[in-house]
Amino acid sequence: MPEGHTVRRLAERHRELFAGAPVAVTSPQGRFAEGAARISGAVLLDTEAYGKHLLHHYGDVSLHVHLGLYGKFADGDLPVPPPVGQIRLRMANTRHWLDLRGPTACELLDPPEVDALRARLGADPLRPDAKPEQAYERIRRSDQALAALLLDQSVVAGTGLIFVLEALFRAGLAPTTPGRRLTPDGWRELWADLVDLMGKAVVSGRIDTVRPEHEPQAMRRPPRVDRHGGEVYVYRRPGLPCLACGTEVSRGELAGRNSYWCATCQKGAA
Ligand SMILES: [Zn+2]
Repeated sequence: MPEGHTVRRLAERHRELFAGAPVAVTSPQGRFAEGAARISGAVLLDTEAYGKHLLHHYGDVSLHVHLGLYGKFADGDLPVPPPVGQIRLRMANTRHWLDLRGPTACELLDPPEVDALRARLGADPLRPDAKPEQAYERIRRSDQALAALLLDQSVVAGTGLIFVLEALFRAGLAPTTPGRRLTPDGWRELWADLVDLMGKAVVSGRIDTVRPEHEPQAMRRPPRVDRHGGEVYVYRRPGLPCLACGTEVSRGELAGRNSYWCATCQKGAA
């Protein structure tokens, strides 16, 4: 599933390509025909990313998209290509087109529904209006594992497994550390690191989490080969030596998800 930086990049791209002018919207597949008809011809005012949710604002109504596991956008310059496959939403202006396939959510929301969506999401490290202190109120009262809390989109929004496991490695905290063990200073550092890592990923389009001394050139090692790209410490590196200490990276399951950590570098499990 795309993490928050991908959704942020999409929001910025869609704003650049479409905001400020009327768009023609259709649903070649038909499943969004009614919604498409309602916004077609309207001016796209602005776009917004909140966690893993993407919004296109049209004034009195907003398009809400959650890509989920299989959703994908494609775009290009005119002419619009013939529709191939299940295109839920197709959008075009006088210069560009955009296709959306396979999203978990593609729906219209009125302003109170948009407010309700924002209200149920936690602090997004990529948003200047984020309230990390509210997230900490949830974390410090919880016996749940830190990894599970940081993946809970009502606590922190936009973080996925890669950012969470990597930030915990960088903080030296085991993924199973109970939330109540995280000190205020520990949270301040963890939050600042998420803001930094995710902000860089928005710029580069990939997730890199290793410090300069652990980069391939510095360690004279080959770069990582993985479809997720990026240089990381523990994510999907089970059995490989920890880049910092050489211990084999561990793998386990946590809240139904895979979890990876270094048993030497990361402490704090109950
Ligand atoms: Zn280690």
